[in-house]
Amino acid sequence: MLFNTNQQGKVRALETPFYYYDLNLLNETLDKAKQAADRYNFHVHYALKANFNDRLLHLVQSKGFGADCVSGNEVQKSIDIGFPADKITFAGVGKSDKEILTALEHHIFAFNVESIQEMEVINSLAAQVGVTAHVSLRINPNVDAHTHHYITTGLDENKFGVPTSELEKAASIIRQCQNVELIGLHFHVGSQITDMNVFKSLCVKVNEWKNWFEERGTAIKILNVGGGLGVDYQNPDENPIPNFEAYFEIFDKFLERNKNQEVHFELGRALVAQCGTLVSKVLYTKSGVKKHFLILDAGMTELMRPALYQAYHKIEYIGESNNRTINYDVVGPICESSDCFGKEVPLPESKRGDLIAIRTAGAYGEVMASRYNLRDEIRYVYNDMLID
Ligand SMILES: *Cc1c(COP(=O)(O)O)cnc(C)c1O
Repeated sequence: MLFNTNQQGKVRALETPFYYYDLNLLNETLDKAKQAADRYNFHVHYALKANFNDRLLHLVQSKGFGADCVSGNEVQKSIDIGFPADKITFAGVGKSDKEILTALEHHIFAFNVESIQEMEVINSLAAQVGVTAHVSLRINPNVDAHTHHYITTGLDENKFGVPTSELEKAASIIRQCQNVELIGLHFHVGSQITDMNVFKSLCVKVNEWKNWFEERGTAIKILNVGGGLGVDYQNPDENPIPNFEAYFEIFDKFLERNKNQEVHFELGRALVAQCGTLVSKVLYTKSGVKKHFLILDAGMTELMRPALYQAYHKIEYIGESNNRTINYDVVGPICESSDCFGKEVPLPESKRGDLIAIRTAGAYGEVMASRYNLRDEIRYVYNDMLID
């Protein structure tokens, strides 16, 4: 049960909808991930884009994780939160000059460079401000992540990274760039990956390209294998913490690395998804000709994943109910037909004012909230606000 009776009383008094963050679960998840990574001396950067709520970030930072950013503002935010600059990476296919300058100013650990043209721009901006930029080359390894096509990033048809056919050219241009030092190779093939074979295939590709560079006399200090480890959206209570041991073990086993070669990871979802829940109230119930609808006060403006990726989130009734079960289409108030959290969801017969939890919403939830329909700013509550 998400909330005990005492907490339920407090939750009922709060204005909905809101994100509820269980910092105890986050704490435990971070500890498990850190322990599992430390075993192999792996470095983990937290992907801020999954959730940049301040308290979550402070907790992540306090555990010694680095930061993985995809915008200049995320770089600035990580610095403000206290992440050491030498643990900050910056990826993204469309870094603006302003964003690159922000990162150069802070002397971040590495840019994950996604094209030859970007490499040249970073080189010239670094020359302008008189610094050397450390870069990892993001290689598109053509590995199928076997996940939703909207969150697959490592196939030839995706916009991310340098295609392998361009690597010869990229390597030669890097050698000419005076203000760029190539420190590593970067890969990120997708998100919500639950099939560990995908990571095995990734390791094979990483080995291949690492050898390719080394055979050409380029030392590779860093192997950055990205993020993408999935979580159990179906069973958040049974599997609240991903199997980090199994995940890191794959890389230890299949990644060939020389002495002193560092392995870096960029985990987002796996660290924060399960600690977040979207709590909402039933505004109206409606029975049509074929359907029973639960109309919530939360919609795609609070949690966009179902509308954007047809993502599944477990939907639960909060509280005791002995009522009969009804299959509801659980929808939001936004004027879009895609504003639907789930179809034919079996739930206790509900009435106006009842509370509904949408689970596993800690990653790519609050950060994607919008003001569409001039909705309220998103609210959030932490577990320690529900204690007496
Ligand atoms: C989004 C992203 C991540 C994090 O992905 P998760 O699936 O949340 O672990 C890591 N690296 C890069 C480059 C990304 O774009």
